[in-house]
Amino acid sequence: MIQVSNLTKTYGDLEALKGVSFEIQRGEIVGFLGPNGAGKSTTMKILTGFMPQTAGQVSVDGVDVNTDGLAVRRRIGYLPESTPLYPEMLVYDYLAYVATIRGIARGDIHGRVARAAGLCGIADRAGQAIGTLSKGLKQRVGLAQALIHEPDILILDEPTSGLDPNQIVEIRNLVRELGRDRTIILSTHNLPEVMATCNRMIIVHQGRVVADGTPAELQAREEERPRVRVVLRGAPAAGAAEALRSLAGVDSVKDAMTAEDGATALELTAAAGTDVRPQIYALAVERGWELLELHRQVLDLEGIFRKLTQVV
Ligand code: ADP
Ligand code: MG
Repeated sequence: MIQVSNLTKTYGDLEALKGVSFEIQRGEIVGFLGPNGAGKSTTMKILTGFMPQTAGQVSVDGVDVNTDGLAVRRRIGYLPESTPLYPEMLVYDYLAYVATIRGIARGDIHGRVARAAGLCGIADRAGQAIGTLSKGLKQRVGLAQALIHEPDILILDEPTSGLDPNQIVEIRNLVRELGRDRTIILSTHNLPEVMATCNRMIIVHQGRVVADGTPAELQAREEERPRVRVVLRGAPAAGAAEALRSLAGVDSVKDAMTAEDGATALELTAAAGTDVRPQIYALAVERGWELLELHRQVLDLEGIFRKLTQVV
């Protein structure tokens, strides 16, 4: 449904997006996850036609954002990172104003406002000034403005940032509900957010997609390539690393560190689907090294996210 291919964006000298590609199917709720500065908002602004890309393509059901931006924008509701809400304006008037900008016919405006406000649980706040609402309710107003033209795609940039824990749960529930009959992309720097709301995550880091899949798929990929921690005594550090590196199935060995009592600790990565532990044991026996530790480390999602988004 949404196709993004090889998207790049430069701001002056800064390459904010370095070739981002992904596809989103109708009905998915996708979490666009990454640390601050990863390029999430930049991608979303391009998807919604707010800002042109430097290179690459974005299309929705085959319609290119750049050639027919209006048609694409009609199908997309967008909640920017900081929604420009007018504090003195009444909720109703603001939503009616957004509806007008969206080109909704005069006679339909009342119905649209009522429907969007109802969906977002703010129907009883229609007569209240936006500035007097709690942050959670303001975010609902933001969501209602994104829904006013009844788009089938919602793009939400950090929808829960700045909210308290109760408001976060409420907005997550609302997003899940809206996702029942809409396609949603939401960005966040927070992994639990994705786990609670999305069926798929795209992890971005420094302008690139570094992972894409369901939580189960990312976990399975990690389990295929576990890291193994080895602690040896009686082995020369450099010699031990070299000997391990030469074992079949060992991909890489991190430099040896000295552990307690003159022992050497090493961490290695094995080739996909191989278990190198028996060979390590055999090597230690053959060389007369004492094997103090031999541990297979499988990261949980938090660990996977941290590993993929570490600044190198
Ligand atoms: P995220 O939303 O993931 O935190 P952004 O897309 O906002 O990341 O930013 C990606 C990178 O581009 C960051 O390094 C940010 O400082 C930079 N950036 C974003 N917007 C601008 C801009 N208008 N001008 C210059 N640099 C920008
Ligand atoms: Mg952002």
